[in-house]
Amino acid sequence: MKMLIGGREVAGEQEIPVLNPFDGSEVGTVPSATESQVDEALSIAVEGARIMERMSRFDRAEILSRASRLVGDRIEDLARTMASEVGKTIREARGEISRTVQTLAVSAEEARRLAGEIVPFDGAPTGKGRFGFFLRVPVGVVVAITPFNFPVNLAAHKIAPAFAAGNAVILKPATVTPLTDIAFGKILYEAGLPPEALSVITGSGRTVGDRLVGSPVPRMVTFTGSVEVGKAIMSRAGLKKTAMELGANSAVIVTDRCDVETAAERCVRGGFAVAGQVCISVQRVLVEESVLGRFLERAVEVTRSLRLGDQLLQETDVGPMIEENEAERAESWIEEARAMGAGLAVGGGREGALVEPTILTGVPDEARVWKDEAFAPVIAVRPFGTLDEAIGAVNASRYGLQAGIYTDRLDDALRAAREIRCGGVMVNDVPTFRVDLMPYGGEKDSGLGREGPKYAIEEMTEIRVVGIRSGGR
Ligand code: NAD
Repeated sequence: MKMLIGGREVAGEQEIPVLNPFDGSEVGTVPSATESQVDEALSIAVEGARIMERMSRFDRAEILSRASRLVGDRIEDLARTMASEVGKTIREARGEISRTVQTLAVSAEEARRLAGEIVPFDGAPTGKGRFGFFLRVPVGVVVAITPFNFPVNLAAHKIAPAFAAGNAVILKPATVTPLTDIAFGKILYEAGLPPEALSVITGSGRTVGDRLVGSPVPRMVTFTGSVEVGKAIMSRAGLKKTAMELGANSAVIVTDRCDVETAAERCVRGGFAVAGQVCISVQRVLVEESVLGRFLERAVEVTRSLRLGDQLLQETDVGPMIEENEAERAESWIEEARAMGAGLAVGGGREGALVEPTILTGVPDEARVWKDEAFAPVIAVRPFGTLDEAIGAVNASRYGLQAGIYTDRLDDALRAAREIRCGGVMVNDVPTFRVDLMPYGGEKDSGLGREGPKYAIEEMTEIRVVGIRSGGR
């Protein structure tokens, strides 16, 4: 495939192969953009931003609604490409495309609602006789950099609010999963997006990403990916707005006041979806001592029933990890935890990029599967005595994206909501739960800012205040 620069399909001087992580076969190739191609995309985006700023909210909403319908019409095609390049199962890929339909539709609705506020100037001692309001104006050019695990919906979470707000976007998809994003970009043009308003530039993060982030043209960089790259982008970006959706080692608390078997089933689902490569995967599970046996029994039983294999087969539950070296890393982290005394309840094996869904028990604080982001199909389960202790363990992490608590005690649920330091607390569900219209993002090393179309639009606009003094003669 070619990349997209201002509506044109453009080849590069060098090609990057895109591989199916299951068997290493080539799914396609994309160009590695040169510096001058990146610069061309940046200058076209300046024109794109002018066009989008002048476009009415109605027209922006119409384009996004049409894009939503077009994506909905092509779920199967897009899902096959996505499953092939990401390694997520075909059912997971269909799920992601269906969510993208929603992200676009909600962004269309928000485009119509985008408004400012009245400002009560005369509430200030010097404001007598004055009236005012603020407008929300587009920031201009937005650079969007996205990870491999949800290539289209996470790109839509940046692109669609940016257009709703009246901006132009340059998208740099993950180097290993660019194909579905290029197809998505073409759909946006087909929906009526002015070609100047979007470029999809392929290539490595270091070359293409650095040039985009370091350029004075964009007013904002919105990034989803790892903490390390997020920090590098922030230090390179200089005086720009940044939105950072970063990693996590999300935890869930399972008390004795819940349907323990259902909680175990949901934890397995939340831990092993997309082979554990979800930023809000269930990684750490704290189970009240008295129900630990029941929890583990059900969790192991469900895990054993999962079919691991070729992601394109309808019956597969868990596909490969993104690359074999990532699977090797996961295996070494499991071995490290076991060497530190952790028990293996189920799993632990690896073949190529396929890692068996694994549940570990008694994992110590210092093990990487507890303290770092595993981003692999690994769940670490530990008992707790008091809720204080459980909340303390959840918070003893550099991350804070989402958490879950299973309980029917309102007080405990509200305490968890108040005291767990993270962007979202799911009561009676796993941290992996997300709907696309909610505010979503993290505290601590999990990031800055919130996505969800309504909230991303706020991040992607500037406030311009207008003050009016009556009797201005
Ligand atoms: P990554 O950080 O390796 O790469 C993300 C993107 O950054 C890619 O497009 C990559 O090419 C680009 N990049 C790399 N170096 C760059 C640089 N110097 N300048 C600019 N761009 C650069 O992440 P990944 O492996 O693709 O994805 C996994 C990570 O993403 C995990 O940490 C996961 O938790 C996180 N993630 C977070 C969320 C969230 O919403 N919080 C969602 C999904 C994934």
